[in-house]
Amino acid sequence: MRSISVLGATGSIGESAFDLLMRAGGPSAFRTVALSGAANVARLAEMARALRAEVAVTALPEKLDDLRAALAGSGIEAAAGADAIVEAAARPADWTLSAIIGAAGLPPGLEVLRRAGTLALANKESLVAAGRLVMGLAADKGATILPVDSEHSAIFQSLNGDNLDSVEYVTITASGGAFRDWPPEKLASATVAEASCHPNWAMGQRITIDSASMFNKALEVIETHEFFGLGADRIKVLVHPQSIIHAMVSHTDGGCIAHLGAPDMRHAIGYALNWPARADLPVARLDLAALGSLTFTAPDETRWPALRLAREVIQAGGAAGAVFNAAKEQALDDFIAGRIGFMDMAPAVERTLDAAAREAGFAESPADLETVLVWDAVARRLAACKAGAA
Ligand code: NAD
Ligand code: MG
Repeated sequence: MRSISVLGATGSIGESAFDLLMRAGGPSAFRTVALSGAANVARLAEMARALRAEVAVTALPEKLDDLRAALAGSGIEAAAGADAIVEAAARPADWTLSAIIGAAGLPPGLEVLRRAGTLALANKESLVAAGRLVMGLAADKGATILPVDSEHSAIFQSLNGDNLDSVEYVTITASGGAFRDWPPEKLASATVAEASCHPNWAMGQRITIDSASMFNKALEVIETHEFFGLGADRIKVLVHPQSIIHAMVSHTDGGCIAHLGAPDMRHAIGYALNWPARADLPVARLDLAALGSLTFTAPDETRWPALRLAREVIQAGGAAGAVFNAAKEQALDDFIAGRIGFMDMAPAVERTLDAAAREAGFAESPADLETVLVWDAVARRLAACKAGAA
């Protein structure tokens, strides 16, 4: 029986994965090794019981007693803390989904690669912060990484094992997020509640706000660069409000292969779960006649400066991705807490990138986790100084 682990099981991606696993037979189809979550230990325990997991881990040590109580009588181990998540990731499993949000996903993801596991990677932040390290470790250990971000799954599927020699460029699409149709002058006063509603996709709050600011697409441009090894000049972004085409691969002979599907993450998760086979998945089938038309526009970078920053980060190379990711996480925290406005996020990230480049340069790509964490801390310290000075 195939063994699986889901890190970040209680989030939006984790819930979609749980749905697929239960539909596929749950504990009679999979042996579940580890599930992890954070504050919602009641849900984590419910999932662990349903899948008969070996261990359930909360990221929050103060929630361990609650988790233990929720698992009482089940025989399922309970554990807590960041190190316990890494330890859970180290337990052998045939397939591990990393659906933790933010840079916290990096250490357990690296642990899966270290044991030459198969890592279904939704946690794009680990590629942005430490792409060279993640991809290098996977290559050294012979581990497999399967992209779960919808655009990257779409590129992966469109390439169908081809190498990149005949690829002129790839295009990832963006819905435009919550404020696609807002007049630019209104954006400065956008609230957290307004930014937390996505027109097409049901996702966690942080990525939904990142979609409105296009920081999500900026992360994805860098993710494309790191995962597929394409330069910034071979990665395009197209605003496509219907979110039906997820990505396109354009070849040097003028042909272009696009991946289409309903905006439902269960497709990309299910593709990674069943790869290299395909399975029947519970996603809506496309009805192009009912849709009638698909529309596209070039992104306006005055409205979404994050896209320009992504290109600059790729060009800077070295540790710029680690700084960018941390600065973005900090700016998002500041926006959610009401300390800065919606349109203050990109300038804040840019100031932190400039300050880090001046202070230390980005010369070397972080070669180990400790170095990534140092850069992450430098970025957060610089971001805090700048915020204090503003
Ligand atoms: P979410 O906020 O809904 O869930 C995050 C999960 O991580 C939860 O299980 C939470 O308990 C856990 N978590 C939070 N903080 C943690 C920490 N410090 N340490 C360990 N675990 C922690 O997020 P999501 O929307 O499901 O996104 C998860 C990842 O997938 C992100 O990297 C996101 O960019 C990526 N992704 C999400 C979608 C989507 O549709 N939601 C699409 C593509 C990619
Ligand atoms: Mg995506």
